[in-house]
Amino acid sequence: MKGAPDVVVVGGGAAGLLAAGTAAAAGARVLLLEKNSETGKKLKIAGQGRCNITNAGDIRDFPAHYPGGGNFLHSAFRRLDNEGLRHFFAALGVATKIERGGRVFPLSDDAAEVVRALRAYARAGGVETETERRVERLALAPGDRASRPRVSGVYVAGETGLRTAGATIIATGGAAFPGTGSTGDGYALGAAAGHTLVPPRPALVPLRATADWLGAVQGLSLRNVRAALWVGGRRVQEEFGEMIFAHFGLSGPIILLLSRAAVGALEEGAEAVVRINLKPALTAEQTARRLDRDLAQNGKKHLRHALLLLLPRRLVPVLIALAGLEPERQAAGLTREERRRLAELLQDLPLRLTGHLGFSAAVVTAGGINLKEVDPATMASKCADGLFWAGEVLDVDGVTGGYNLQAAFSTAFVAGQAAAARKSGV
Ligand SMILES: Cc1cc2nc3c(=O)[nH]c(=O)nc-3n(C[C@H](O)[C@H](O)[C@H](O)COP(=O)(O)OP(=O)(O)OC[C@H]3O[C@@H](n4cnc5c(N)ncnc54)[C@H](O)[C@@H]3O)c2cc1C
Repeated sequence: MKGAPDVVVVGGGAAGLLAAGTAAAAGARVLLLEKNSETGKKLKIAGQGRCNITNAGDIRDFPAHYPGGGNFLHSAFRRLDNEGLRHFFAALGVATKIERGGRVFPLSDDAAEVVRALRAYARAGGVETETERRVERLALAPGDRASRPRVSGVYVAGETGLRTAGATIIATGGAAFPGTGSTGDGYALGAAAGHTLVPPRPALVPLRATADWLGAVQGLSLRNVRAALWVGGRRVQEEFGEMIFAHFGLSGPIILLLSRAAVGALEEGAEAVVRINLKPALTAEQTARRLDRDLAQNGKKHLRHALLLLLPRRLVPVLIALAGLEPERQAAGLTREERRRLAELLQDLPLRLTGHLGFSAAVVTAGGINLKEVDPATMASKCADGLFWAGEVLDVDGVTGGYNLQAAFSTAFVAGQAAAARKSGV
């Protein structure tokens, strides 16, 4: 690019690509700097390679789906909502479909198509993309207001000169899944410009648990169960759906949903327990009656056979052992107290949490650039002039279902337009 760009975008993920394309479409000369050898690395693996780009639910209900930063997003959603995003992609040739829970995917089931479309959008607007360019520092000059500096460009690792720009958008992502490039660089860039951080923590992350029986059920997935998170003896959250046992502990959709609160509790040193209800459709009484019936009807069988009607095969010996019983006992011979213990376990199988798998396995980052220091209407920094934020680097995190990408795209759209409106030196 000859001469300085109007806007430099740091990071070519979901937010960076859309912010760059939007700024260019608004008439700005845009330079996009990405540290990987290609843009959109995380997008390509999103939604297990199918890319759940948003959710088809009512946009007014969206903020409630962000345990972090939902209210901050109101004005960004007004500017680019889920319908707008689907139209945007349709115009780029990416038709979409709606699946269970309102999840929106490309019709092709191919995340790479989404990446190609975003790259084409940026290219069409004249965005110049440079890969293998890691921004390591912001150039800070005295601003118009003495209290706040102006960002006049960026320094790229291994280069001597300064890349000057009228506006800088940081879209470096969070710290989750660092193998895709999001290694938390934006936090240090922000801190140098005067921002504070809400401490980043992994969210939507598998949880570690201790139980000597976990090895026996690893890989077993359960549907239609309820899992509740108890912290310090108090139930704090409950989710219904699918989960999976792993050698290290617990994973699967409902466990990921519990993980944000669980990680917070664990990091504060609190006791955290997940209690699994294997029969959530039944009341305690109905469960006891159902157990009694099964044991009576199979009275001559061994307990381990009699319970197969009620439980997945691999869980049967686990519950028998936890109830302190012998698998070879005759089903009809159980005492009332023994039956009570079994019935209770069917609805309350506890697992004490010991930790989590960390950023390397987390889908998203909770925490990030403090939202009090960012204008929600423009994504402009309140700490430095010429600086804008977009995407997961902000203290925003949503649940699963397309909410994280919608937040990345909406904040990017706003930041792209606002940065372009500033233009070089204005
Ligand atoms: C496995 C997985 C699956 C997911 N699936 C979904 C899904 O289906 N739906 C959904 O809504 N959300 C999903 N998410 C979350 C979603 O992908 C992220 O919230 C979203 O990608 C965030 O976009 P972003 O642009 O802010 O950050 P990223 O997409 O992480 O992009 C940041 C970019 O900045 C670059 N970068 C970082 N530092 C620098 C630097 N110093 N200089 C230059 N470049 C830099 C990185 O290399 C990267 O390319 C998933 C996440 C994971 C990990």
